[in-house]
Amino acid sequence: MTNHVDADDQALTWLDEDRLHEECGVFGIFGHPDAAALTALGLHALQHRGQEAAGIVTFDGAHFHTERRLGLVGDHFTASQVIERLKGDTAIGHVRYSTCGDPIMRNVQPLFVDLASGGFALAHNGNITNALTLRDWLITKGAICQSTTDTEVILHLVARSEKRSFVEKFIEALLQIEGAYALVGLTNKKLVGARDPFGIRPLVLGRLGEAWVLASETCALDIIGADFVREVENGEVVVITKDGIESHRFVPKYPARLCIFEYIYFARPDSIVGGRSVYDVRKEMGRQLALETPANADVVIPIPDSGVPAAIGYSQGSGIPFEFGIIRNHYVGRTFIEPEQRIRQLGVKLKHSANEAQVRGKRIVLIDDSVVRGTTSVKIVQMMREAGAKAVHMRISSPPITHPDFYGIDTPDQDKLLAATKTLEEMRTYMGADSLAFLSVEGIYKAMGYDGRDAAHPQFTDHCFTGEYPTRLRDREGPPQQKQLSFLAEVG
Ligand code: AMP
Repeated sequence: MTNHVDADDQALTWLDEDRLHEECGVFGIFGHPDAAALTALGLHALQHRGQEAAGIVTFDGAHFHTERRLGLVGDHFTASQVIERLKGDTAIGHVRYSTCGDPIMRNVQPLFVDLASGGFALAHNGNITNALTLRDWLITKGAICQSTTDTEVILHLVARSEKRSFVEKFIEALLQIEGAYALVGLTNKKLVGARDPFGIRPLVLGRLGEAWVLASETCALDIIGADFVREVENGEVVVITKDGIESHRFVPKYPARLCIFEYIYFARPDSIVGGRSVYDVRKEMGRQLALETPANADVVIPIPDSGVPAAIGYSQGSGIPFEFGIIRNHYVGRTFIEPEQRIRQLGVKLKHSANEAQVRGKRIVLIDDSVVRGTTSVKIVQMMREAGAKAVHMRISSPPITHPDFYGIDTPDQDKLLAATKTLEEMRTYMGADSLAFLSVEGIYKAMGYDGRDAAHPQFTDHCFTGEYPTRLRDREGPPQQKQLSFLAEVG
C-alpha cells in the first residue's frame, strides 16, 4: 500500500493503486462422497463469472485439502489426480476474474486460514466497499495480510472476534463489512453461506439427495442434477452441519436489491435468478426495446452471445426477422478479460465475424445487451458495413451505463464509460451507426414485470444507470488516515 501525502485526489490515487475489481462465482457442497468432482462441475457451469483462476478446498473429517490454479476449471480440475487429492465429503470452490495487475496465486480463492477453533476456508463473490479502510485498520492492529483481496479482511475479522461460537464470530465480521457479498465458507464441521443486507450478488441453496449445495446461480445446480430449494436471502447466514440447516438473520429483514446487471449481462441465461428466468427477462428487455425505439430495418441481428435473447425479443416485438449475421468464435475468452484497450479491440475481431450472406444489401438492427467502453459496438458496426449492410441501427437492451460499479462486476472508471463521457449523438457518431438508442430505466423495470421503477424503494440495485449506490462507498470517501479515525470511532 502506498503512502499518501497530497491533498485533493488523494483518495482516488490511493484507491486506484489498490483497486480490486472482481467478477466471481462460488459453489459449496456438504455431505457428498464426490464433493470435489461435483464442485469442479459446479464451477465449470459458473465459468462465465470468472475465467482467470479457480480453486477448491475440501475437508475429509481430519484435514483440509486445497488446489488453486490460474486458468479455466476444465484445464485443471478434470484430471483425476487433482480430484483424488481433494478428499472429503464437503467442499467449496471459486472462479475468479480480476483486473488488478497480474493474476497472483496468493489472491486465488478459496482463501484458507487456521483459526484458534480450526481451519476456515472462504470464497467470495462481490466487492467490499470498506475493505481498504478495514485493512488499514487491521494492519495498525498487527494483522499481516498475505493477499490483496478484500476477502482476506473477512478472515481477519473472524479471527479477531471474541465471540464464543464460530457462527457468532462470522456474523460479527459481516456486521463490520459494507458492500456486496455472496460468501461460501467451510470449517471442520460446517458449510456456511451468506448474502449482504441488500442481496446484491446472488446465492442459491440446493439439494442433491442428502447433500446440501450452495451456488451463485441455478445453472450450477442443474449441471450436477441438484434440486433448487430456495435463494439465500439478503442479510441471511445459512449454516449447514450433519444435523441439517439453520438460518440466522444478521440484519432486520427488508426488501432485497439484487444487482440488475445480473439480468442484463452477468448471469447465464438458463439460470433462474430471483424467481425469474434470465433468458425470459432478456427477451422481454428486447421486446420492450422494440416498443420504445423501433427501427426501419429488414433484419434483426444479435451481437452474440449476450445480445441473442434480447434480439429474439426485439424481433418478436417488431415483427422484423431475426438472423445470425455475426458468428462468434467460442474459443476466445470474453472481450473484457484483455487488460489493455488495444488488445481488447483485437479481441473483438478474434471473437466475432460477419456472416456476409445475411448482411449484404440489408438494413440491419444490431442488438447488444450493454455498452461499456464502446469497443464492441465500434468494431461490429464497422464489420457490418464492410460486410455490405445498407444501414446499421444500433439498439442496446439496457440504459446507458453512466456510473462505475463497485460491487463486483468490473466496469471501468467513469472516464472510460462511453455513456458517461458522450451524448447520445456523440456516441452514435463514435460508433458509426445510422441510429442509436438504449432501453430506458423504466423500460427495464417493465421488462421485469413492474409498472416502472419505484423511486422511493427501487426494486433492484441499478447504480450503473442511475448513480444511486445502495451502500456507502467508504473507501472512496477520503484518504485512509482520515477514514481510519472515523472507522475506529464507529467500531470502538
Ligand atoms: P464495450 O465493448 O466496452 O462497450 O463492452 C460491451 C460489451 O461487453 C457488451 O457486448 C457486453 O455484452 C459486454 N459486457 C458488459 N458488461 C461486461 C462486464 N462487466 N464484463 C465483461 N463484459 C461485459
